[in-house]
Amino acid sequence: MGFLQKYQEYFKEYDRMERDFIDDDKIWSQLNKWANPSKKDVRRVLAKAEKKVRLDPEDAAILIQNKDEETINEMFSLAGKLKKEIYGDRLVFFSPLYISNKCANNCRYCGFRRSNNKVDRRTLTMEEISREVRVMINEGQKRTVLVYGESPETDIDFICQSIRQVYATKCGNGEIRRANINCAPLSREELKKLKEVGIGTFQVFQETYHHQTYRKMHPEDTIKGNYRWRLYAQDRALDVGIDDVAIGVLFGLYDWRFEVMGLLYHTIHLEEKYNGVGPHTISFPRIEPAIGTPYASNPDYAVSDEDFKKLVAILRLSVPYTGLILTARERPEVRREVIPLGVSQIDAGTRIGVGGYSKSMGNMLPDKEQFQLGDTRTLDDVVRETCEMGSLPSFCTACYRAGRTGEEFMEAAKSGFVHNFCMPNAILTLKEYLLDYASHQTRDAGEKAIKKHVDGIKNEKIKGFMVKALKRLEKGERDIRL
Ligand code: SAM
Ligand code: SF4
Repeated sequence: MGFLQKYQEYFKEYDRMERDFIDDDKIWSQLNKWANPSKKDVRRVLAKAEKKVRLDPEDAAILIQNKDEETINEMFSLAGKLKKEIYGDRLVFFSPLYISNKCANNCRYCGFRRSNNKVDRRTLTMEEISREVRVMINEGQKRTVLVYGESPETDIDFICQSIRQVYATKCGNGEIRRANINCAPLSREELKKLKEVGIGTFQVFQETYHHQTYRKMHPEDTIKGNYRWRLYAQDRALDVGIDDVAIGVLFGLYDWRFEVMGLLYHTIHLEEKYNGVGPHTISFPRIEPAIGTPYASNPDYAVSDEDFKKLVAILRLSVPYTGLILTARERPEVRREVIPLGVSQIDAGTRIGVGGYSKSMGNMLPDKEQFQLGDTRTLDDVVRETCEMGSLPSFCTACYRAGRTGEEFMEAAKSGFVHNFCMPNAILTLKEYLLDYASHQTRDAGEKAIKKHVDGIKNEKIKGFMVKALKRLEKGERDIRL
């Protein structure tokens, strides 16, 4: 286990700590204290949430434990309202790129785990990465998240090289303009290298915040077996100046109510330690079946669709300025219901097989996949539906490229910035998509959405700029942004 030994030194920093910031007993005592909140309790919290402040754990516990239909509906409508006020009608689009399914860990729920011999193992070469990226670009993608197992083959130098390869790949008018990273927790030295290449968000999901369940899911003789090494992954990234970090839970491993509290405590920890900068986004995947992985088909705490809706709305109410990502693990009908509750980002046109974009031609590759996707529609279909539902698909990457990240982004998000910058940029990137990649039907739906949203711009100066910029895009100019 030479690979694991390399990390033993790093682990010492955390082994010395008396406790970490997740106190399991405290979380349960808060949930138990509010086991049966009254309508009045719930409405008191909703009145606080309406002011767009981050809620405290006890507030969240009240919402989590609420079983009253009338006030649950009030929670849903306030979550939708906050989403609209803070983010507008925008929905940011991306798709993941799976670089390698080789993994030294043995997470019980994951198709990539070391002991699964049903999976055909692969790491993309640089040339194959370019091939995948070209397919993604030609479908209209501008943003991606690169996904890696944890293996000596995909060490930090390989990760950096693969990111450079993604950015260097151009095709017609297109390119990937923002690459986020979802990989194993890294050391500060490794994270410094990652910062130098220029990444978007650094994502690590804790999977479960419940210590005992974490131990059950992640064998001790693996790197991932160390709870605190993972829990402090975002701290280390922020320490070296990567200021867009993301957190997440894999729902189904433990009680969803506890996990929502865990996400909130993690947010509070980061905000308190890093000058108000909490996570840039939160992800909340539910476990999906995976080849050779019986646990994934029968998890201990499967979350129902109703509870899933509730937890998304509670996250939106609790952390109003944090992006919420809903992945294509979910079926289209679930996505339709959940998006209006506060989601700000989705993936579409997703392939999760390693080599899936260039090889599958629309089909899945079960022997190279980590789990099964719920939404296998094309990007074009999802863009069209989003426009028809009154929202505005956005491929915008302006903030990251202008250096508006971390603290600066948080400040901007709290002012009228979103309406003056993000909405116009969303419109401009949608227009590029319609011109270069969309089907006729999608173009019609998209043009209607653009007209509606340009008409809705209140600032006359910005509106004038937009009318001209849209014409410039029609004439062939690209990448116009505010
Ligand atoms: N290997 C890295 C790690 O574990 O952090 C990053 C990549 S891992 C492939 C990305 C995420 O996929 C995990 O953090 C986990 O939440 C999720 N995942 C694993 N198994 C899953 C399953 N059966 N269904 C849905 N999501 C799953
Ligand atoms: Fe490896 Fe990540 Fe899958 Fe665990 S979740 S087996 S670390 S790829």
